[in-house]
Amino acid sequence: SVSDPERLREIVGEICDHMARETDRGQVADYIPELAKVDANRFALALALPSGEVIGGGDADTRFSIQSVSKVFALAVALGRIGDQLWTRVGREPSGDPFNSIVQLEHERGLPRNPFINAGAIAVTDAILSRSEPREALGQILQFVRFLADDDDIAIDPGVAASETVSGWRNAALANFMRDFGTIERHPEKVLGTYFHQCAIAMTPRQLALAGRFLAFDGALTPGGARAIAPRMARQINALMLTCGHYDGSGEFAFRVGLPGKSGVGGGILAVAPGRASIGAWSPGLNAVGNSQLASMALEMLADRTGWSVFAPK
Ligand code: GLN
Repeated sequence: SVSDPERLREIVGEICDHMARETDRGQVADYIPELAKVDANRFALALALPSGEVIGGGDADTRFSIQSVSKVFALAVALGRIGDQLWTRVGREPSGDPFNSIVQLEHERGLPRNPFINAGAIAVTDAILSRSEPREALGQILQFVRFLADDDDIAIDPGVAASETVSGWRNAALANFMRDFGTIERHPEKVLGTYFHQCAIAMTPRQLALAGRFLAFDGALTPGGARAIAPRMARQINALMLTCGHYDGSGEFAFRVGLPGKSGVGGGILAVAPGRASIGAWSPGLNAVGNSQLASMALEMLADRTGWSVFAPK
């Protein structure tokens, strides 16, 4: 497998060139009005390596809305604070349904299948709120992401949060449904307000790659370096990303790319090549199941050229 930074720089350059020419770029999400304003021609790929070096290509320094990629960071915060107790509120199985689906909740006593579909992420946010008020909880998630990326210049975009607050009826339905079953304990409005703001975290693909290092390096920011979470939890999060990180496209992503990954409707994907790199990919156009079309394709090319699939022998 490839680890030489020089060769990795070439590969990133080739992928960026390829994506600049790609015409089938998918559809930018428009159910959150603020997101519809983003230029579909954007593309970025950034690799954070064990050495601390970041290889960035394309729009690697342009801020975007991480949306559901934030579910990874919220899960890590919740696991760190509540531990395995969290699993009484949310399952660990792929859903096979769209990210915002409600159908499964009625059949399974209001218990969401996994922490990466919207219902599951709302339940995780509620769990964090069992120990903190919304402002404090958001502060903790944001501080954690800044610590992971070693960069304080990461913030919540209030315009995106407001835009989702006025259009998030489906999420309100999920939260109310779960409140009735007792899966969430706080008032749905309070939980949703926190969840919408967490989804509105804006960062650059370079910052995202840095923030994902703790998953690539077994809970630490660099191999053997400062620890963010226990190795066991980092491995568990990676397992969930591989099986559930792309909603009803999770099987396809695992099949094509072979790396744990988490997507968001802002077009971002955080992917993890254990021991090798944390990868931030971004392009706003989405495929039919709401995952970035070009970021998925780029990660497939990257895994192919580097031999980084988790199913390849080390
Ligand atoms: N904030 C978005 C929502 O709840 C996140 C969804 C996503 O990124 N897939 O609809």
